[in-house]
Amino acid sequence: MVRLYDSQKRILVTGGAGFIGSHLIDRLLAQGHEIICADNLFTGTKRNIEHLLGHPRFEFLRHDVTFPLYVEVDEIYNLACPASPVHYQHDPVQTTKTSVLGAINMLGLAKRLKCKIFQASTSEVYGDPLVHPQPESYWGSVNPIGPRACYDEGKRCAETLFFDYHRMHRTEIKVVRLFNTYGPRMHHADGRVVSNFVVQALKGEPITIYGDGSQTRSFCYVDDVVDGCIRLMETGPEVTGPVNLGNPQEFTIRQLAQSVMAIVGRSADIVFKDLPQDDPRQRQPDAALAERLLHWQPSVSLQQGLEHTVDYFRIRLAELGIPAG
Ligand code: NAD
Ligand code: UDP
Ligand code: UDP
Repeated sequence: MVRLYDSQKRILVTGGAGFIGSHLIDRLLAQGHEIICADNLFTGTKRNIEHLLGHPRFEFLRHDVTFPLYVEVDEIYNLACPASPVHYQHDPVQTTKTSVLGAINMLGLAKRLKCKIFQASTSEVYGDPLVHPQPESYWGSVNPIGPRACYDEGKRCAETLFFDYHRMHRTEIKVVRLFNTYGPRMHHADGRVVSNFVVQALKGEPITIYGDGSQTRSFCYVDDVVDGCIRLMETGPEVTGPVNLGNPQEFTIRQLAQSVMAIVGRSADIVFKDLPQDDPRQRQPDAALAERLLHWQPSVSLQQGLEHTVDYFRIRLAELGIPAG
């Protein structure tokens, strides 16, 4: 174990150059901790962490979690994994390897160091859910051979590994199931619905709705998600999860399109495209456990969160030289 002073810890964040990971690192650094960020920059970018390069308590390691990693830390947050359907279906075998081999390596590290390890799991473990809203006790409805399976089954297997290391080796685990998260530093071309709609609206392009737009999602702002993750990590060893983290407010994709257009201040055309295979029809977290265990509730409304996201993308598109319409 590495001991720094007082409550300062050395923390490994895998996937730390990604959207959620980079916000988590900002928060942990602000709490005074020392951070090692391990990321292979598959979907993350140095842009997300460039403000930290040179920070005395921050270190970046270009590393692929499918390979072993030997470092000395007090805590591990395992977030490494592409999260958008476009990205995770780009190389599905690598996606499964990242979830499964990445979990084995990070659990092996946690076992050797006898340290706490956090896993960013997902509402995708519920698949196209037959129970609504989804409590943690629901086992899910996942197509194991479809195009989303590399991600869904990879994350399910990672959960299995976490609980087996916990049972076999007493490894202290913290498993969170994140629902759709959005905010600044999403990749502008990751194909996710919030980034797509905001970028399309800013560029004055038609908004692409897949299917008829009646499918639902529950969108949680990234600051709320990070707050919940840290709260879970700080619980005692008896708390393993899985715990849902997500905003119980549910919206149709059509409603999301209307909200984005209203905030950007223009009414774009809407084009309807085919619904991707196995696209879940509905998704809403039962967030009662997070509220009870972590005293956590989302505090940022969709309106406020979208405003911050639109502000971010205005600047980001200008940086990239992409003209707004
Ligand atoms: P992201 O793609 O922005 O970040 C993932 C990071 O992992 C990237 O920086 C990427 O380069 C890195 N990575 C991918 N494969 C790797 C590998 N083999 N080795 C090392 N690094 C690797 O995605 P995100 O939205 O920030 O998601 C972070 C985590 O949260 C993921 O595990 C994701 O499954 C989970 N999650 C996200 C959401 C969401 O809505 N954003 C929802 C549920 C779960
Ligand atoms: N591992 C790692 N860093 C460590 C310890 C282990 O990356 O500090 C990897 C190691 O490569 C191994 C995996 O974690 O493949 C699982 O480790 P564990 O000790 O559970 O299993 P074993 O080594 O017996 O396969
Ligand atoms: N979606 C859409 N238009 C887009 C991108 C996505 O209508 O340009 C839909 C997609 O079919 C899904 C929902 O929005 O029903 C959320 O998609 P996303 O890829 O963001 O996340 P996930 O499906 O993993 O929840």
